[in-house]
Amino acid sequence: MKQPVETPIPVATEKEKIDLFQKCWDFTRADEVKAAGFYPYFRAIEENEGPVVQIEGRKVIMAGSNNYLGLTAHPKVKDAAIKAVEKYGTGCSGSRYLTGTLDIHYELEDKLAKFMGKEACLLFSTGYQTAQGIIPTLVQRGEYLVTDKDNHACIVAGYMMAKGMFADFVRYKHNDMADLERVTSRLPKNSSKLVVTDGVFSTTGEMVNLPDLVNIAKKYNARILVDDAHAIGVVGKGGRGTASHYGLENEVDLTMGTFSKTFAALGGFVVGTERVINYLKHHSPALIFSASPTPASVAAALAALEILEAEPERITKLKKNSDRMRTGFKKLGFQIIDGRSAIVPVIVGDDMIAFQFWRELFDNGVFVNAFISPGVPPGMQMMRTSYMATHENHHLDKILDIFSKTARKLGILN
Ligand code: PMP
Repeated sequence: MKQPVETPIPVATEKEKIDLFQKCWDFTRADEVKAAGFYPYFRAIEENEGPVVQIEGRKVIMAGSNNYLGLTAHPKVKDAAIKAVEKYGTGCSGSRYLTGTLDIHYELEDKLAKFMGKEACLLFSTGYQTAQGIIPTLVQRGEYLVTDKDNHACIVAGYMMAKGMFADFVRYKHNDMADLERVTSRLPKNSSKLVVTDGVFSTTGEMVNLPDLVNIAKKYNARILVDDAHAIGVVGKGGRGTASHYGLENEVDLTMGTFSKTFAALGGFVVGTERVINYLKHHSPALIFSASPTPASVAAALAALEILEAEPERITKLKKNSDRMRTGFKKLGFQIIDGRSAIVPVIVGDDMIAFQFWRELFDNGVFVNAFISPGVPPGMQMMRTSYMATHENHHLDKILDIFSKTARKLGILN
């Protein structure tokens, strides 16, 4: 009888073993999820009206965007971007430092500084770059960064760069002020320190305990940086963010934000005192060595800021919508993370259920973000939902209805 031919298991040669790209061949998790039909990421949007988008030829309700005030589709915002392209062209082709500064960059900086009640503002090309532009520029050799364990990835990137430049950093447990005090009190008494935190945490939507953070930072002579990417236009007086929400505007040294959410564009900014902003302007590599925000983005953000100031009822509507969803999910029996922002995470507790849940929602006309482990701790896998001022009740009710049906189908709710 003919013996079956044994296929030898390929053994990597020494050369292949050390190939830098080996990890890319080994990474197959995304392919497996795609093959199973559950891959929720990088889905192309073909049309975007705000609360409703078209994906793969079908209209779905968008419940996962950071377009909090729904301004990406506002005629005034679109018109401002178009006019800016007509006037300045499509790009700046240089950094702010050299040939990339337009008059509208200054106009937006002035208006944002005034809006936030601070002396000065500096624009960056993205929010991510803003954190990377501030942290390693300010926190240097022999100085300390004190950071929440769950701060956004751009803050992590910022402190890893600072570490590379011999600054030190310490992390405290998420929003745990006793732990903040514990780690800060151990730092050398006369050292310079920066405490950095998200204002509204991007995964969970919870707000930082800023009053306690401020007290501890003051006690140990630390400066404070708040990343208000998810807070400006959402919380605080007239949408002025976390410090404003708590009445602590004068206690926070630096607040950074992004144009990719409420401001319906792309770019980032930081506000603070004139001397600090001036220092960043002349020392920050992320600013000096990267091209400035495009005319269309700057003009769109300017128009969005104007609308934000003129129509505070949009912020009220956003809060009403988010509160309606928090109440709705709880009434249905879902476990949610109960915050005050426009982010409402619904916990499903397992990677595979998260993928199935996501697919079922999508097939029934609702788009959300599936967060799985290790992005979130095991057991906290979630459908991270987020809302817009332009969602109407019929959109919200449909989201709740589809969630309820899906949960029953997958056996999460009875
Ligand atoms: N900070 C936080 C808290 C964020 O959530 C994000 C984006 N998700 C950023 C900064 C980065 O902003 P951008 O998209 O402008 O790079």
